Amino acid sequence: MRYNSVSMRHVIITIGLFLSGFLIAGCTANQPDAGGDVAAMAVDNAVVLESETAVSTPIPSLQNPPTPEVTPVGEGSALPQPPTITPVPTLETPTPLVPTEIPATPTATPIGVCSQRIPSDDLFTLVTQTYNLSRDYAPKDLVLLTDYLAMDVTLGYPSEIREVALQPLLTLINDMKAEGLQPQIISGYRSYSGQSIAWNKWSTEMPERASIISARPGHSEHQLGTVVDFGSPSLPDIVGDPDIEFHTYFFKTPEGIWLLENAHLYGFTLSYTREASEITGFFYEPWHYRYVGVEMATQLKEVGLTLTEFQLANQPEPCIPD
Ligand SMILES: [Zn+2]
Repeated sequence: MRYNSVSMRHVIITIGLFLSGFLIAGCTANQPDAGGDVAAMAVDNAVVLESETAVSTPIPSLQNPPTPEVTPVGEGSALPQPPTITPVPTLETPTPLVPTEIPATPTATPIGVCSQRIPSDDLFTLVTQTYNLSRDYAPKDLVLLTDYLAMDVTLGYPSEIREVALQPLLTLINDMKAEGLQPQIISGYRSYSGQSIAWNKWSTEMPERASIISARPGHSEHQLGTVVDFGSPSLPDIVGDPDIEFHTYFFKTPEGIWLLENAHLYGFTLSYTREASEITGFFYEPWHYRYVGVEMATQLKEVGLTLTEFQLANQPEPCIPD
């Protein structure tokens, strides 16, 4: 029957994708705007499963990869509801201050029924599997990193980042190189339409898992233009795959170790930690750093929180546009 053959084909494709994650990541990473992180998620899941016995001190959140739940497309995530502190659904996110300060009176301008969510130039806009950006939002000050960084860093990929984060990033890269490290930048800004392409691909090929391994369009921090995905030339050897560019073992590379320790000094913060995966809505991504400024990044480092955790605990909930 046609139904059965389709089902069997789906199973085969699913298993094939699962087992060939490394290859997928290598190919997809050559198209940074098409969802490099998404491919990495598939790799992560596969490797986490088989690597548990090799990790001497496994982190609890990775020992039992979350069981995918079928989540209707467009109806939010399968993850637990974020903590509700002071729900003000119709207010835009106000500019955050410091982790210990809770604005008594949000000063943001109400935006009606929230038909749009277009952030201003502030660096702290919350973007999760629940709170999305409008399709109309695109940063106006993007710069091309290949104009500022050598080929060994950009690998020739046309990654972009907002100008506000450019100099801090260049300083960070220079300091890493001065210490003998070899930082790479695999991906930067990703447009709403670029994320749509990635989402459509995964929701078609792996509908039951798409909501946890991919961000729907509007739900990726990459759309903010203040995010970079780092790579390391050490990663292929550590993973055992010459084509790998994204992998959770990035945290074992010299570059990953240095970034975890020092990125906040340049204003960058790790968005998706192991510990916060249920709150952020994304799996551990040790390569994904977001520029939030030195002050905020340092405060987050000191209290051990991601920006998303901090924002959800200290700010009114942002609106969710159509
Ligand atoms: Zn990323």
